[in-house]
Amino acid sequence: ERMIAPMSYQVTNQLSENVILTTLDDLYNWARLSSLYPLLYGTACCFIEFAALIGSRFDFDRFGLIPRASPRQADLIILAGTLNMKMSQPTMRLYEQMPEPKYVIAMGACMITGGMFSADSPTAVRGADKLMPIDVYIPGCPPRPEAIMDAIIKLRKKISNESLQERDKFKQIHRFYSTTHN
Ligand code: SF4
Repeated sequence: ERMIAPMSYQVTNQLSENVILTTLDDLYNWARLSSLYPLLYGTACCFIEFAALIGSRFDFDRFGLIPRASPRQADLIILAGTLNMKMSQPTMRLYEQMPEPKYVIAMGACMITGGMFSADSPTAVRGADKLMPIDVYIPGCPPRPEAIMDAIIKLRKKISNESLQERDKFKQIHRFYSTTHN
């Protein structure tokens, strides 16, 4: 006959496993949110505001963000500018070359919906979420550097509350959405 462990033993056992997992997640998340490396990349005028943020006036480095010129060394892409069909493939290639876990901020009306090009342009991509999963959106035309800082604070908050399993689910949902709705 199968032996059933006493209730107190089961609870203690589950508790110890969960406590270790939670602590590892916390440690891992703290390391990730404290050293985000954004890719130096932009496709149009919104990038000028991102460039301003990198300068000493806004002191972007205080968040531990060090801009990188190579996608291999970046784990954050701030999509800044208008995205047209021609640039969608290179943008996707850059995103795919970034190591996991990686994050995406969509900045400005053009990147979120196609903006002022969404009605007439046959070449504008109407929303970067058709290409990749977006973590934080920044509305505006163009959003100010302070709005980018606010988005980074929101992203850090999101990372601090997220386990790796949840991150995988987030990407699976995007994959499902983009294959069924695009
Ligand atoms: Fe330019 Fe405005 Fe579009 Fe940003 S949202 S890329 S500032 S037109």
